[in-house]
Amino acid sequence: MANSVKELYAGFHEIADSPAKALATFKKETGEQAIGCFPVWTPEPIIHAGGMLPMGLWGGTIELNKVREFLPSFACSIMQACMEYEINGTYDELSAVIVPCLCDTLKAISQKYKGKSVCIPVVHAQNRPTEAAVEYMVEEYADVKRRIEEATGKTITDEAISASLAVYNEHNAVMREFAQVAAEKSAYITAADRHAVMKSAWFVRKEKHTEMVKKLISELKALPDKEDTRKRVILSGIMAEPKELLNIMEESGVVVVGDDLAQETRQYVADYPDGGAPLERMAKQWCQGVVCSLAFDVKKPRIDNIVDMVKSAKADGVIVCIVKFCDPEEFDYPFLRRRFEKENIPHILLDIDQQITSYGQAQTKIQGFAEIL
Ligand code: SF4
Repeated sequence: MANSVKELYAGFHEIADSPAKALATFKKETGEQAIGCFPVWTPEPIIHAGGMLPMGLWGGTIELNKVREFLPSFACSIMQACMEYEINGTYDELSAVIVPCLCDTLKAISQKYKGKSVCIPVVHAQNRPTEAAVEYMVEEYADVKRRIEEATGKTITDEAISASLAVYNEHNAVMREFAQVAAEKSAYITAADRHAVMKSAWFVRKEKHTEMVKKLISELKALPDKEDTRKRVILSGIMAEPKELLNIMEESGVVVVGDDLAQETRQYVADYPDGGAPLERMAKQWCQGVVCSLAFDVKKPRIDNIVDMVKSAKADGVIVCIVKFCDPEEFDYPFLRRRFEKENIPHILLDIDQQITSYGQAQTKIQGFAEIL
């Protein structure tokens, strides 16, 4: 592989592996504030419009101690880790944190935030395809904007939000292109590299990430086509971590050629639509565009998206990565399973736990799956 591509991957890994360092670099370079974004669907462009860094909060591998006093052991491991970071003060340099109340655990987090930063809950409409839902979301986002302004002392104008929506739409398009090019040039990418490109987007300003990914796309496109004999899979779920799991995929001869992960490509499926005031455009994206286990839709279009992805990426199978105790994903799984069986799409279910220390079971599952594909 060309050295330039390796260097570019290294840049993404550095950011994805060290969010704290990325935050420190941002603050040093710009002197600006950062706002924490609990996963997922926080109204990031409002923060971006204030010149600040919307900083993804995705937990991490950390020894869980004090959180045990506040969260039951059946809360998902991402939120267990996030709360441990809240308690130990890691998030205190954020001017505020935004918590989308999209599942029971997130609701609890919004009510019991343990850090010093201002906590701003956002409650998304779930009866989405209605005018009332759009009106409600406009009001909700206006309230988030007001509370961000209060917490940071900034004034965020409609013009600035419109400019940020353009930045986010461009980033969406570039990330969709990356997903496609990475599948076409799969011989030049590992599961961990692909994940680093996707995850790093949460810890730098989107315009910077866009430029980094554009460079990578152009380098990948310039590489000659090369046969890849590894098994091609699609990942689905909230996230596919820790990195050790992705390394097991690589060792088992598995390459990721697409994903329906909330932390990765799900973010980039729906652009902010044209026309109207910026908060209305953001409301319409949530009400009319977002496809996610956390966005109620009785037709479950997410399942069609995964099946289409399997076909278009010529994938051999799907690895469903369910964060342990994640109700919204667990509720969708029976529907996914039934459809995969109907379409003869091989799949396995992997339990995701950020604090896992032994990978024997996952290794056996992934190796076994690769052998039957
Ligand atoms: S992983 Fe699942 S349970 Fe945990 S915060 Fe996300 S949606 Fe909620």
